[in-house]
This record gives sequence, structure tokens and C-alpha cells, in this order.
Amino acid sequence: MAKYYKEGESGKRKLEPETMRVGKKQLQPESMMMTYGYDPELSEGALKCPIFQTSTFAFKSAEDGKAFFELALGLREKGPTEELGLIYSRLNNPDLEILENRLCLWDEAEAGAVFQSGMSAIATSLLAYLRPGDVLVFSEPLYGGTEYLIHHYLPEFGVGLVGFPAGVPMAELEAGIRERVGDRRVPAVLIETPANPTNHLVDIEGVVRLAQSLTRGGDSPVVMVDNTFLGPLFQHPLALGADLVLYSATKFIGGHSDVVAGACVGRREVVERIRTLRTFIGTAAGPWTGWLLLRSLETLKMRMTAQMKNARYVADYLNDHPKVKRVEYLGLLPEQHPMYAVYRKQCVAPGSLIAFEIDGGEGAAFQFLNHLKLISLAVSLGGTESLAEHPASMTHSDVEPGDRERLGITEGLVRVSIGVEHFEDLIADIEQALEAVGAGAASRSATKERDVVKMSK
Ligand SMILES: *Cc1c(COP(=O)(O)O)cnc(C)c1O
Repeated sequence: MAKYYKEGESGKRKLEPETMRVGKKQLQPESMMMTYGYDPELSEGALKCPIFQTSTFAFKSAEDGKAFFELALGLREKGPTEELGLIYSRLNNPDLEILENRLCLWDEAEAGAVFQSGMSAIATSLLAYLRPGDVLVFSEPLYGGTEYLIHHYLPEFGVGLVGFPAGVPMAELEAGIRERVGDRRVPAVLIETPANPTNHLVDIEGVVRLAQSLTRGGDSPVVMVDNTFLGPLFQHPLALGADLVLYSATKFIGGHSDVVAGACVGRREVVERIRTLRTFIGTAAGPWTGWLLLRSLETLKMRMTAQMKNARYVADYLNDHPKVKRVEYLGLLPEQHPMYAVYRKQCVAPGSLIAFEIDGGEGAAFQFLNHLKLISLAVSLGGTESLAEHPASMTHSDVEPGDRERLGITEGLVRVSIGVEHFEDLIADIEQALEAVGAGAASRSATKERDVVKMSK
């Protein structure tokens, strides 16, 4: 059985990656999500990892306490089999450590760290690298919260910004980016692909090459990829040369819209630096969050696969609908599209996020949203239930109107996150809501009242 924690001779725990095999068979991540890294013997035989709801951990001896602190504060190098002992839950906790080790399996990462939210994962990672006078290079559009953090706070700390649009081949952008950076230092490049909400792609390998060309004084920028939309199942940025993958674990990883959390996984050296800052600004997740996510990981592959299958049906339906002007879904990318080759190279499957434009601008989009019955009107994504929202007035309302138009976030654009319901029910809901578009404006509350009558029959 998989055992991650084991008492070594010195009383320290050590990693045993060889237990990931059955005979000669290397196990797939979904087979390891139930047991990897957890030893029931260390928890009274409990089959499932308990919630280690504790702020602090008792040391066996003063010598142990000293050794743990030496490692935690980087006062000496780790011994070859030595692992950081448990000290205090802002630094580490078994629920978080086991979760971090399991998250690493999907992306084949060397190390991981879990945070209180996707935003705290992103903010801690950026702050670990950016200093006054530096430049952050990033793709646009980014998640609304990231966009806000970058534009409203980083400039106040003296960090310069150079953004470039998703959906454009890197060869057309590179020279311009290099010129705008000039001779300033670029410690990090942050991209989000597919972009939110348009599903426009950024070529990860192309960005890795760009980053190498921005090397100053021997340090090449750390390439960070927000992989929330397709990862950790359908896109593996580390395999394409990225250094760090970021997640809002609130979305697919959590998957039930009942927990807010974040994570990063990647090269050990990069994750260690971020994890150290996590300790000192206190952005680690708590044990209860860790436990909920451990539970979610057991069904991650099933959920993401079912959601993606549903989304294909819904996207096809929308694509044929006369009131829908365009559908942005990776599964509908035509072979002659300039980004099709990038899609084939870096995405395993199209995922379950669809953006589509309804003829008639904001009014039409609102009518559609107000008439949905099964699909909820809410931001967020990646949960078991389907959600719909209006990016221009909700998640992306902070983007300048001119920029919104340029980035394809038009007034008639609706984003849906497809869940695990029956796809025919989802299509029926979308069908009746589209029928209501242009047929006189009814408010959501009026529709709701009708629903209550109907449901109580
Ligand atoms: C939701 C989201 C975030 C922020 O995550 P929180 O968990 O809400 O803090 C970051 N990036 C993307 C792509 C997201 O969808």
C-alpha cells in the first residue's frame, strides 16, 4: 500500500516514491488519490486521513524541535532522507502535506503548496519574485482578481507591467514585448491559458522561449501558468517547460462550490521560495480545507471527464442556434484556425467552459440569464452544477470598456461552466431561455415565481 509518512531511524518522515507501483505497474494518478501519502498506522488505523485540526505539534525531544526549525528557517541544508518535521499549522500540517503530494502527481511536479484561495496562491507567487524596478510580463485577459491585483497594486510597489493578448501567435508578439521590457529585469512571466472567459490560447512553449530570451544576469524569468481552466487533467504546462502551475482549487479541484482554496505546483526550488513567503505572510490553507480537497481529488477525473462530455453537446447545440452569434469553445476550434496547432500541442481535451455571444448585446444576454431555471446565475466555475454569468458586467467589469471589446469580452457574451447534470436537461434549459430572448423582458423574480408554481404542481 502507498505509504508516504514513515518513521525513519531519526524519527523523521521520508518520501518513498517507489510505493507508487503495483508489481512493475506504475499507477496512474486517479488510482493513487485514495491512499497516496497516507499511512493508516500513524492514525489509529483510520482508513481515511483524519482532519488534523490542530494549530501546533508536539516535538518528541528538544533536539527534534531544534532540527525542524533549522530546516524551516533554511539555517542548514536538508539531509538526504530528511523531511521537514511538523511544527505549526501556518508552516505545515498533514492534511496539507498529503494534499500537496497528491496534487503533484497530476502535473508530475517536484513540489507543491496549498493556499487559502487561488488569489493568495497567485499573490504569494508574484510577491516571492517581483521587486521594485522589475517588470511582470503577462497574457491578457487574466482572471478578474489577478487583473485587479496586477493593475491596482503592483505599480504602487514600483513593478512595471507588459501585457500581451492571448490568441495571437507568439512569433507576432515577441519583438514588441522585448522592446517594451527594454533592459529591465523580468523575474516572472504569468500566463493564463485558455484565457478567461474567451478560451483564447497562449502558446506555453512559445512563452518559455520568450522567457529565455528575457534572461538578465543569468536568471531567466520563472514561467507561471494559471492552469485553473483545464488542469490538472487536460493540460500539463510543466511538461512544456513552465516552472510553476497555479490553481484556484475553488474550481475543478474542489469541484463542489463549497470551498475556496488555491495551489501551486512546480520546480522544487521555485515552490520552496513561494512556500517560505507563504509562512511569513500566512497564506496557507487550514486543515479543514485540506481535508475537503483530499476528498474532492478522489473524484476529480470522473467529474472533469463527465463535465467535458456534457460541454461538447452543449457547445454543438449553441453553435447551431440562430440567436447565437459566436461560440468560444476549444472543441469547436476549426483546423485552419491559427491556434489549432497550439491546441493540439498543449491541450488533452477541450474542458467544460463555454463562452457564447447572443445577438442583441447586454439586454439579450440578461434576458437569457434571467430565464435560466436549471443552470444557476453565479460566477465561479468547475463545480458539479452548471453556472452562467455575464463577464462584461460581472467577472470582467473592471477591464476598461475599450480593452474588453479588443479582448472579445462583448456585451452579448455569456460564460457557462458545465456541470455533471444530464446534458439533455442542460440543453432544454438553454433552449427555453434562448426562446425568451427578444420575446419581451421578464425579470428574473417573475420567472422564479412561475417556477415555484410549476414545481409545486
Ligand atoms: C477563480 C480563479 C482564480 C482565483 O481563485 P480564488 O480561489 O477565487 O481566489 C484565479 N484564476 C482563475 C483562472 C480563476 O478561475
